Amino acid sequence: MRHRFTILLALAFACAVPAAQRRADPPPVLILISFDGWRADYFDRVPSPNLHALAERGVHAKGLIPSFPALTFPNHYTLVTGQYPAHHGIIANTMRDPAMPERFSMSAETAQDPAWWNAEPLWVTAIRQGRRAATMFWPGSEVAIGGVRPTYWKPYDKTFLTADRVAQALAWLALPEAERPSFLSVYFDEVDTAGHDFGVASPELVAAAAHLDDALGQLVAGVRHLGLEDHTSIVVVSDHGMAPLSYDRVVYLDTLIDLSTVDLTEFGGLLFATPRDGDVDALYRRLHGKHPSLAIYKREQLPSRLHFRDNPRIPPIIGIPDDGWSVTSGQRLAEKELNAGAHGYDPANRNMQALFVAAGPTLRRGLLVPAFENVHVYELLCKLLHITPVKNDGRASETRGFFR
Ligand code: AMP
Ligand code: ZN
Ligand code: ZN
Repeated sequence: MRHRFTILLALAFACAVPAAQRRADPPPVLILISFDGWRADYFDRVPSPNLHALAERGVHAKGLIPSFPALTFPNHYTLVTGQYPAHHGIIANTMRDPAMPERFSMSAETAQDPAWWNAEPLWVTAIRQGRRAATMFWPGSEVAIGGVRPTYWKPYDKTFLTADRVAQALAWLALPEAERPSFLSVYFDEVDTAGHDFGVASPELVAAAAHLDDALGQLVAGVRHLGLEDHTSIVVVSDHGMAPLSYDRVVYLDTLIDLSTVDLTEFGGLLFATPRDGDVDALYRRLHGKHPSLAIYKREQLPSRLHFRDNPRIPPIIGIPDDGWSVTSGQRLAEKELNAGAHGYDPANRNMQALFVAAGPTLRRGLLVPAFENVHVYELLCKLLHITPVKNDGRASETRGFFR
């Protein structure tokens, strides 16, 4: 009798103690996946059963509106900082800063200098708050930002196979709990490359998308196999969309200006130009209003909705071509034929809209939401990871309705 009473007492006590104190709950796991250049409408256009399955048990946005300019480095860094490019400092894939000795190029050693990266990315915040973070590639992840690198990371290598990226990501998740990362990014470039080289309607694009969808399926299955599903959230995003190009939509810059007189840091789906002689007004007069499909602005005249003015890295002359138009030159086209697709344009173009699908134990199931701006993704990621966000341009209220 006394024995039974002791058991009852022990049971009553156990029920009164919160679950977290009985056995420490494992920290939530967040996997952030980027399908570079996956345009919003590919979701409905290309077979992607694993992405659809994730959307069915989570939240799918009709589009994710990139920040201007709709380029890879600026938008990947916005996704993990919640800041507009003019605020986080990565205003383009290629740029100059009057205070820096060399120009930044995403594919060069110069990109490794932490002085370019002026905002704290999610993985650094997570580490500062006692978590481990792993990056299977992400722009900025190879840089010691604020002196902190991801706990586990790899130097970027485009030839590192998709299957190997998946295997490495799962190997990190398979580490014992005391070493396992709670934040993990996984980056894939195949769809962007196919969009540029073969176009948005090409069989190559469909094949690349199917390949990435497979990779997602393997990641999801791996998480389940490791028994992590109950406390893992998976967020799949892209950085921008893709516009089809045509030789019928080309602005020949060399018919308007002498190209040797300007420093062009971006061209194609955008024009970033600095006059070598410093005469901004003269360059503006030579370009402004000279082509009906190329809007030319001085930096300070850019529409405020683009949030792209107050940073000395922004060149003094910006050209924004109409959707699907290319800013290039006769010489460039003689050296290399026009790509099939480009991005960079005004994010208001439907073709620039990106991907957002997220599922996890705290997210609603089967929810379809309208397109929203990608500065708001960071607050959502911090909430999924249970960490305190640092100051940023996004608002948690924008994604509050995504939660149960
Ligand atoms: P974009 O020119 O904006 O289309 O950039 C896309 C390219 O960025 C892809 O082809 C990738 O190979 C490249 N890329 C992505 N992440 C990195 C990185 N961390 N370092 C260097 N290049 C990268
Ligand atoms: Zn990209
Ligand atoms: Zn691209």
